[in-house]
Amino acid sequence: MTDRKKLARKLVLFAKERLGLGKLDSIYAENVILAWLHEPSPYEGELAYEAPELPDSLYEELETALSELGSKDPHKEAVAIFGIITPRPDAVDETFHSLMKEDPFKATEYLLEVGRASGYYAETAIKKNLRWDATYEDGASPLVVTINLSKPEKNNKDIAAALKAKSVAYPSCALCKENLGYEGGGKIPPRGTLRFVSITLDGGPWYLQYSPYGYFSRHCIAFQDEHSPMKIDAHCFRSLLDFVDLFPRFFIGSNSDLPIVGGSILTHEHFQGGDKELPLFKAKKRKTVAHENGVEILILDFYDSVLLLEGKDKAAIAALAERLLAAWRDHEDGKRHFAPIEKDGTCHQTFTPFASKEGDLYRFYLIFRCNSVNEEHPGGIYHAHEDKWAIKKEGIGLIEAAGLFVLPARLKRQLALLEEGAQKSLEFAELAKDNPDLQEFSDCYAHLKKGESVEHYVNAICRAILDDVAVYKNSKEDQEAFEAFVKENLR
Ligand SMILES: [Zn+2]
Repeated sequence: MTDRKKLARKLVLFAKERLGLGKLDSIYAENVILAWLHEPSPYEGELAYEAPELPDSLYEELETALSELGSKDPHKEAVAIFGIITPRPDAVDETFHSLMKEDPFKATEYLLEVGRASGYYAETAIKKNLRWDATYEDGASPLVVTINLSKPEKNNKDIAAALKAKSVAYPSCALCKENLGYEGGGKIPPRGTLRFVSITLDGGPWYLQYSPYGYFSRHCIAFQDEHSPMKIDAHCFRSLLDFVDLFPRFFIGSNSDLPIVGGSILTHEHFQGGDKELPLFKAKKRKTVAHENGVEILILDFYDSVLLLEGKDKAAIAALAERLLAAWRDHEDGKRHFAPIEKDGTCHQTFTPFASKEGDLYRFYLIFRCNSVNEEHPGGIYHAHEDKWAIKKEGIGLIEAAGLFVLPARLKRQLALLEEGAQKSLEFAELAKDNPDLQEFSDCYAHLKKGESVEHYVNAICRAILDDVAVYKNSKEDQEAFEAFVKENLR
């Protein structure tokens, strides 16, 4: 049996050391934990305990103790108990803002530390993800490939259905502020340890938190106070630029506001940011197209179609981006299946925008997106085509459009089976007979049989997906059309 009195004391000692739990709060927290653990009085005497960096072992012990007491959901209860030893949401907000006055990076590091020590930020799970750099022999921009072992795979139809579904659940979505302390239910995990801080973007109330399953270094999420749908517009552009003023170390980006080309939660306006390590930010400049109001407008040498607006006047950048958005939404090009809204009452064209700041120079990236479909590609002409679905079926959101691929957990097992089969020189039919979910991998298997590595194959597919996503391909004709579009609409 777990020594529950000792465990309650250890939790408090850990929180004093790692979460800044105060003197009176410690007495209070210990008593509340003892009540959860059905113990009438605390551990007697001093306990020598060295607090670990991460809370994993304490969660384990706590869940065991709760199971011994007959808990039906020990994880849920363990998170609630960790919520007691984590500073209150208002206290975190207050500390954050006092650190902001000193240094914004100190403030965001504080928020990250609270997330790590409380177990909200799943650092141990994140470290188990597979990750490698994808480089190409022809010198094309490197990409980053990750296989995320903790994230369930969603398909575009689920995401579109969620957008239409009338929300009756509480909280309205996984981003809403009402998640603070929520016990969990449905698709929302227990949120006892969730903490976020208040920020102001474009004059309106927003919050900042760290993603519990960060895909890259310091992956954070900014979300609007109000539960209202994602919208790419002037307000969004101004908000992104305000964000990099507040946190110049970070980039920030928004998913598109359309199903197929967008992110997984379209019902609540939010951005994603973090360290500027996504491949897009390392892309070379391909061509300067124009100078307008002190802003340089360039086409980037990247896989998908990206325009970079660079300048010191953020109002001028936001206004230019707004003009380009209106023109792009309205753009008709039958050959490329671009269609203005009036054509069928549906918006097909939008941007995936990003902002970053170096010194006093703003960089504003517009990835051109289009969700038109045709008979050949009913899942989207400018989306990962069917021949790549074995590797990636989900929509290409902002992180992937910027060159960091987040591939589904199933691939770890599937790719290992394929590698093993190739080593044993099995016939593909034989392998697929025993593992029906390998049916779509015949192409990959042929590569492995030729002696190529699994990574080499995946790297090629990721690159080909971004080529599918490009609304203007990397051909002379398409690049000229891209340039002409920009020039015409700046006149
Ligand atoms: Zn919401």
